Amino acid sequence: MSRKLLAFLLTELKTVRVICKECKTTTEVDIERLADVTDSTDTVHCHSCKKRFYQISKPGDNPFGKLADAIHALQSDAIKADVEFIIPDDSATAN
Ligand SMILES: [Zn+2]
Repeated sequence: MSRKLLAFLLTELKTVRVICKECKTTTEVDIERLADVTDSTDTVHCHSCKKRFYQISKPGDNPFGKLADAIHALQSDAIKADVEFIIPDDSATAN
């Protein structure tokens, strides 16, 4: 039995797909713009159903901004390690 894995480095990540849990509409966002998914722009809402993606309880609680900050910090040359994501492909075990 074999198991295939899909692996990619954090440095290869250029775009994230934001999927509305309400209506399943997807929006692709360049990670350079991910922090812009805040109350200061209209991207805090789903473009289709207008559902808010999150509620901020206090400044700095924007989860998209936190993700963007973490990605940028880990992609920095100051970090002497690479981060790799592993996604198992369970369909390969059916053989
Ligand atoms: Zn929606």
